[in-house]
Amino acid sequence: MTELEPVIGLEVHAELQTRSKMFCACAVVDSTSAAPNTAVCEICTGLPGTLPAVNARAVEFALRVALALHAVPAERSVFARKNYFYPDLPKGFQISQYELPLASGGWLDIETPAGTRRIRIRRVHLEEDTGKLFHRQGYSLVDYNRSGVPLLEIVTEPDLHSLEDIKAYATELRSILRTLDVNSGDMEKGVMRFEANISLRRSGDPDLGTRTEIKNLNSFRSMLRAVAYEIERQTGRLTAGLPVVQETVGWNEATGETFSQRGKEEAHDYRYFQEPDLPPLLLETGLVARVQATLPELPSERRTRWRSLYGLTPALAGVLSAEPAQAAYFEAALAAAGAVPPERIARWLVGELFGLLNGAGMQIAACPIRPADLADLVGRVEAGTLTVSNAKTVLGEMFTTGESPDPIIARHGLSVVEDSGAVRQLVDQVLASHPAQVAEYRAGKAALEQWLFGQVMRLAGGRAQPASVRQALREALSSAENRQPGL
Ligand code: ADP
Ligand code: MG
Ligand code: ZN
Repeated sequence: MTELEPVIGLEVHAELQTRSKMFCACAVVDSTSAAPNTAVCEICTGLPGTLPAVNARAVEFALRVALALHAVPAERSVFARKNYFYPDLPKGFQISQYELPLASGGWLDIETPAGTRRIRIRRVHLEEDTGKLFHRQGYSLVDYNRSGVPLLEIVTEPDLHSLEDIKAYATELRSILRTLDVNSGDMEKGVMRFEANISLRRSGDPDLGTRTEIKNLNSFRSMLRAVAYEIERQTGRLTAGLPVVQETVGWNEATGETFSQRGKEEAHDYRYFQEPDLPPLLLETGLVARVQATLPELPSERRTRWRSLYGLTPALAGVLSAEPAQAAYFEAALAAAGAVPPERIARWLVGELFGLLNGAGMQIAACPIRPADLADLVGRVEAGTLTVSNAKTVLGEMFTTGESPDPIIARHGLSVVEDSGAVRQLVDQVLASHPAQVAEYRAGKAALEQWLFGQVMRLAGGRAQPASVRQALREALSSAENRQPGL
């Protein structure tokens, strides 16, 4: 049997973190910390006789995302009612966009282990979020704070084919949303959720196989686990000659399995019709151009610039561009760095400072070390006035005290012995106190040079540069040899 290829299409729901909700003046609040049902009104709780009005800022946020994804905005799009009952949806329908979405036909390039791949975006549309249910023993509670929060749905074509693909896509999209300042990316607060459509087909087959759709995946981890499980389950069925049934499935985090929820719903099940309380959404002339002009530099553009301008490796550029706050920190350090090569700053940032931040469970925004102080420290290592190992010690102390390198280096006497005479003195001192080893070295035991080198470094207490110690030691040993011909 020819190999089976996974085919995956992702639907991403991202809250647009505007000040007020999509169709009313209620505040958009942090749904994990605000007291339940405190940001609600008659509109977002679906009381009869109320009228929604579109939040212009939400439209602008949505356009930012659409344009960043190279999707084409529709001058005229239409809100529709998607009818279904659920206790978290008090109106009995969700206002969404169906036939005429806000934008369509875009793409997002992702970096995968196999190289750059272009994922086509089918549509980007506006809708409203639902409330939130809390299931207790024998009863449930509902919080409508989230009801009516602007929600953007971003749907791909079925262009993704592996776990690496979906991870790269979701990571890049999250990074874009954060860079555009429309969504915090706080997955644990549920501001970004995924649905994955999965089918298998024989490699090379142009037709799509029968898909299942996994609903409500709240983290990258759940998404990856659920899709892996579903690929394996479908592979098992197909290899056993059994069909895959088209259905909607849920994901049970505890058992690590998907479970059937219902047969796949069809569009007609929702009885979509144009929302009679809202006119079509017409984008005013110039709005798209205005939004386009205010788009910030996107993560992919940043990576390209850093790679070509600073020669950063793709890996370093990738890590640093992923979070806007990291990118800003890096740029601030560079601005203060003078002649220090950007690549050095990047390595210290990713290799050392990120380690300290992770260890402390701290975000870079709260980093006690100022970007200019990091640049200062790296500059000293580059100039050779601070050894690498001492610089790490100093960095650790900068991280706890928030000080600049200077006072710490002075306090611990860590600056390098630059004076070559002083280094030579250390060497002579070591040679004088180990005459036996020096004699053995002269008798041909060349390996003792390394041992003597270690002694000098120890005596220097890390204040000497290894290269200058090595040079001084060589000189001392050869001049000693010269002084004693015959040995
Ligand atoms: P809905 O899920 O609302 O019916 P669509 O049919 O437009 O919406 O598909 C939603 C997502 O499913 C899209 O990302 C699309 O690329 C993906 N998709 C559609 N058919 C398949 C398939 N056979 N295998 C994998 N993904 C698919
Ligand atoms: Mg769907
Ligand atoms: Zn409201």
